[in-house]
Amino acid sequence: MKEIKSRILELRGLIKDHNHNYYDLNNNIISDFEYDKLLEELIDLENKYPEFYDIESPSRRVGGGLSDKFDSDTHIFPMYSLDNTYSDEEIDSWHKRIVKTLDISDIEFCCELKYDGTSVNLLYENGKLIKGLTRGDGVQGDDITKNLKTINSIPLKLNSISFPKKFEIRGEIIILTESFKALNKNRELNGESLFMNPRNTASGSIKLLDSKEVARRPLECFLYSIVSNDLTINEHSNLLNLARDMGFKVPKYDKVVKSIDFVKEYIKYWNKERENLPFEIDGIVIKVNNIDYQKKLGFTSKFPRWAIAYKFKAENLVTKLNSISFNVGRTGAITPVANLEPVLISGSIVKRASLHSYDQMIKYKLRVNDSVFVEKGGEIIPKITGIDSNNRGLQEDEIVFPYLCPECDTTLQKHESEANYFCPNTIKCRPQAIGRIQHFVSRKAMNIDGFGDETIRLLYDKGLINDISDIYNLDYYRISKLEGFAQKSVDNLKKGIEDSKTKSFQKVLYGIGIRYVGESASKNIIRHINSIYDLIEMDFETLSAINEIGDKTANSIVSYFKDDLNKKILEKLYNVGLNLSKDEKFINTSNKLEGKKIIVSGVFKNYSRDELIKIIETNGGEIKSSVSSNTSFIIGGDKMGGAKKNKAQDLNIPIITEEDFNNLIS
Ligand code: AMP
Ligand code: ZN
Repeated sequence: MKEIKSRILELRGLIKDHNHNYYDLNNNIISDFEYDKLLEELIDLENKYPEFYDIESPSRRVGGGLSDKFDSDTHIFPMYSLDNTYSDEEIDSWHKRIVKTLDISDIEFCCELKYDGTSVNLLYENGKLIKGLTRGDGVQGDDITKNLKTINSIPLKLNSISFPKKFEIRGEIIILTESFKALNKNRELNGESLFMNPRNTASGSIKLLDSKEVARRPLECFLYSIVSNDLTINEHSNLLNLARDMGFKVPKYDKVVKSIDFVKEYIKYWNKERENLPFEIDGIVIKVNNIDYQKKLGFTSKFPRWAIAYKFKAENLVTKLNSISFNVGRTGAITPVANLEPVLISGSIVKRASLHSYDQMIKYKLRVNDSVFVEKGGEIIPKITGIDSNNRGLQEDEIVFPYLCPECDTTLQKHESEANYFCPNTIKCRPQAIGRIQHFVSRKAMNIDGFGDETIRLLYDKGLINDISDIYNLDYYRISKLEGFAQKSVDNLKKGIEDSKTKSFQKVLYGIGIRYVGESASKNIIRHINSIYDLIEMDFETLSAINEIGDKTANSIVSYFKDDLNKKILEKLYNVGLNLSKDEKFINTSNKLEGKKIIVSGVFKNYSRDELIKIIETNGGEIKSSVSSNTSFIIGGDKMGGAKKNKAQDLNIPIITEEDFNNLIS
């Protein structure tokens, strides 16, 4: 008996930890299947031994918690979890229970895909979005309204003719597979660490404090239920149609079926077909379609009795861990990779797997010859999801995680918000130094022909280039003596390098590889500065006040210019004639605006305020700050002051856009 009690306590502890990892940290370390097995064992023991009942047990509560980063608020109708199963037999017993309770045999079911993201609850009143919460503990959720408002597929105002006066609509925040790939590709180019999978990225993104950063993540919201006291519709499937009519995104894969056999067919079909979907699903949700029946069936403390999730099992096998390699990436991130005894999973041989996170793996204290669970799900890279505790390697073979960089011996560091360690020796650490040069010469940056990855590695290892500024002082004689360098390829390289000197300021700014300053960030920054010297002068506050720049990027820019080595590199680039300021040509001098009294108000897409003022002045115009009957016109940007606008309308002063202004002076 004592043993049973301690197992129950152990399971509760484990499940709570996993809930915290999964829902709050977005860092699940075991597979869904493993998790569900633990939960099932707990529920089973609790049923058999009711003397150990505890209202706080995770078997009775929805998984997630609340975060102190956000205010919390109460759902009008609680948000439940879904009971789930991996087998057809359990679908049958669920069906039987429903038939018995309702005492009706012909029941319609609505089958839907189970989107793999994170759930949110949106409150609309009189057609307007009032609030958006995470599921939280099911009763209360985090208020993430500000973040949700950045998602295009969530309407702020409904345009349909009719809608319920007040309703909650529930949905899943997801990232489409293609968008996820593009996002990671972009991060790779920008030297940022890669995201694990769409689900974790979606749920991590909506809980960011910086809404500007949220807006940059390609989030979508798929809706799957409406709850309200103001509804007249009596079928769940028609509620989905209502949601569509109101302008919400409800993927059209749902299907109403009249027997449990068709439910099973639907499951079978999507288990195979899911790989062709543009987003990830982790199962199927089956709901009793008739709302009156739903009401009769009601809820347990945790689940609706009228719905169940059929979850797809990711293929999961056990194999031996041979070793772990620690790779140092271009950005200095250390990625542990497990080398495995090869196994066949889902039709392909798996030899390597990713480890979920450095921290979690340190906790596991992995040993050579451990038996590990390897899973290959919808994701491309197989991962280790746990160790078989009955089949461990020898204690003396415990794998030591390095605290020094395997490439340069610098002590590794860790950002609080990231899972993995990194080597801070950005300038001298070989893969990082080489990576930065590769980035500088790449197509979207300086686009230097004849400078392939191999060449860069060779020249770096021979000591002919150490950093990007050396590219413009190459010793071509020594290069021509290197093996494999025909005179023609040396000439080619020389020409490519010479041509690159005319590349625009934006390309150079992107090319120097300031962390987080990717292609689009560099374009945005350029609108607000004239030269690299303006950027050096800007402090964190000024930078982060620029609309498109998040705190992380602002921080990174500031610390880049704090480094004397970086400044030296820039000086060398300046001396060889690279464009470190904007082409001044766009400021053409004329008297086109002579005698005009002009007001500049708001934020502009292509100019900073100062730039506009400069252009007006060099074209003979005069800048005024308050609207009067003498004002010739106002150039109005985004967020133009309301008072100015009203006054201009009263006095009949034209407000022109920046495009109009461009036409005027060009
Ligand atoms: P679980 O995360 O295992 O508690 O499963 C319940 C969750 O599945 C809900 O909170 C939703 O976030 C999610 N879900 C995804 N697709 C659907 C769907 N079509 N209907 C209901 N819930 C869904
Ligand atoms: Zn290093």
